[in-house]
Amino acid sequence: MKKYLVSVACLVTAITVGAQEEITDPKATEKWSPVPVVVTPGEQNAPPSDAIVLLGEGEDLSMWESADGGDVKWDINDGVLTVKKKTGAIVTRNYFGDCQLHVEWRSPAQVKGDGQGRGNSGVFLMTKYEVQVLDSYNNRTYSNGQAASIYKQHIPLVNACRPPGEWQTYDIIWKAPVFCEDGEVKEPAFITVIHNGVLVQNHVEIKGTTDFIGIQTYKPHAERLPILLQDHNNPVSYRNIWIREL
Ligand code: MG
Repeated sequence: MKKYLVSVACLVTAITVGAQEEITDPKATEKWSPVPVVVTPGEQNAPPSDAIVLLGEGEDLSMWESADGGDVKWDINDGVLTVKKKTGAIVTRNYFGDCQLHVEWRSPAQVKGDGQGRGNSGVFLMTKYEVQVLDSYNNRTYSNGQAASIYKQHIPLVNACRPPGEWQTYDIIWKAPVFCEDGEVKEPAFITVIHNGVLVQNHVEIKGTTDFIGIQTYKPHAERLPILLQDHNNPVSYRNIWIREL
């Protein structure tokens, strides 16, 4: 039955298209505006010219604060920011909605623990939706909790983890959720994640706020919120974090 309906829809489209006047001039389908803004791409992994650098070289942590207020208590050394356990999550001082986010992370070279206890951290969009950071190199855990999963929601398409101690990249495209005035979800969030150059989350729909226990549902929130990095008691490091607002 469904197939029949689809084919009727295609037929209607075909008739509509067929009814249009035939275009013979190739210029008729050219579009000259708007003109895309020129952006200079970064060399290697450097940020493009229009990015906001959240973590660059040196010891500059001015873009970050502790999630519970005050200065970041994690260790910063020559552009490498490392989780200091029990000091809590950190958040950007700026708030973001739709964005492209580049993050580089490294789980400790010295392997300690297993499952969720090995190289666990996380990149939270809008402080609420976690892209899992975990050492998933020869480290089995539940599939929707491994590296590059949308925690407890979406299993990554493949496991593209590099060995512990090596730098890894996440390139994330985020479409923020939209809420109606009454708090109902007007448009859910969507996320795409590329892990070390490999597509692992392909425009998947976010089902709700990341929760450790239970079914995840949406709780209405502001249009823009900080990016959060998780302290999960493991000394995971970060470097070269930049964002482009979309
Ligand atoms: Mg985590």
